[in-house]
Amino acid sequence: MAKASQLHCSFCGRNRDEVKILIAGQDGHICENCVEHAQEIIAQELSTKQESSSGSNFKLNVRRPAEIKKFLDEYVIGQDEAKKVLSVAVYNHYKRVNSKPQQDEVEIEKSNIIMVGETGTGKTLLAKTIARLLNVPFAIVDATVFTEAGYVGEDVESMLTRLLQNCNYDVAAAERGIVYVDELDKIARKGDNPSITRDVSGEGVQQGLLKMLEGTEVLVPPQGGRKHPEQKMIKVDTKNILFICGGAFDGIDKVIARRVNTNAIGFSVNKEEQEHQRKNLLQFINAQDLKSFGLIPELLGRLPVITHLNPLDAETLRNILTEPRNSLIKQFTRLFELEGIELKLDDEVLDFMVKKALEYKLGARGLRSICESILTDAMFELPGTDTRQLHITLDYAEQMFSKSKLSILKVA
Ligand code: ADP
Repeated sequence: MAKASQLHCSFCGRNRDEVKILIAGQDGHICENCVEHAQEIIAQELSTKQESSSGSNFKLNVRRPAEIKKFLDEYVIGQDEAKKVLSVAVYNHYKRVNSKPQQDEVEIEKSNIIMVGETGTGKTLLAKTIARLLNVPFAIVDATVFTEAGYVGEDVESMLTRLLQNCNYDVAAAERGIVYVDELDKIARKGDNPSITRDVSGEGVQQGLLKMLEGTEVLVPPQGGRKHPEQKMIKVDTKNILFICGGAFDGIDKVIARRVNTNAIGFSVNKEEQEHQRKNLLQFINAQDLKSFGLIPELLGRLPVITHLNPLDAETLRNILTEPRNSLIKQFTRLFELEGIELKLDDEVLDFMVKKALEYKLGARGLRSICESILTDAMFELPGTDTRQLHITLDYAEQMFSKSKLSILKVA
């Protein structure tokens, strides 16, 4: 048996005479300092576990790329290219998250994504739908609200506050969530020379995003806003958070055109095809174009996946009205159904809605207001009456629309 003077704490190694209390176990001892320390660790671990298990519905549901695309098809019309690229990037990302680190393993980089496409073409919808399928926390943030730390505006860390809030502060779930950063184009560097003036809301913010996108431990103020010394911060590791950025990048087609011409892409195709390609320049977008637009190369390096969304034509808008699983027409039909009323819309009415959305340049987002402008009167008047069927004809639709605020809008 060991002599009292040889006894020591099996955890910190301190000798018997260096500690006040040494508690004996079967094969070792523990001192009062280590007991205290262990207690802290237990409390911390338990609170994190509780956060992630209590009310946490975030059990990651990773699907194969083809399954992800199929799911997206149910909610988002067209945009096949973007769907495919996103499905693969998201699948790879979560494969990386789930893989156990092995020795000598090739390190898989994060596949953060940039989506370029006009406003209202489905960028946010794609990101949101993927998050729903995978069952991960999701936050939408607007890049324009951020400024460089120390200036009026929000710190980039506040995007993580939003993510935490959206999953009830389930830190473990948030750490593998998705953040959609909208309007990335609005923080493009203004002007070619970065050093002449301070650019706190452009390049400064891009710099602020770098670490976050790559993966770092960030202390997040739980209620958002600026950091206050008295506020208890929550530590969030962004290593496994997927960042999807979107922007319209107005005018980038000209940048692409310049590059494509000099590179003589399309040389081998016929004239008609060349014409078609010129119209769809976005499909050729690459990091070089985004750099010319004003994104800094370091940021682009952390957003390795680039894809584009096509502008919505009449046919796509028409399909958006009826095809998605929760399409507008399905939603309105259900609303009337709940009142015991069968809604019937003539085909010409749908065409009329699309025509107006294009005419007033309202895009897919405008379809909802157009539907409402046509159906609001009926939704106001019919509940409680004996009416069991509502048949919307083109005449009725035109009449309702012309009465609405929308029709006062000037056609641009
Ligand atoms: P963006 O982020 O590109 O500006 P959103 O994703 O917010 O556009 O789209 C706005 C709305 O328009 C969506 O909520 C959706 O109802 C509709 N929408 C846009 N594009 C599509 C699409 N391709 N398929 C189905 N709905 C769409």
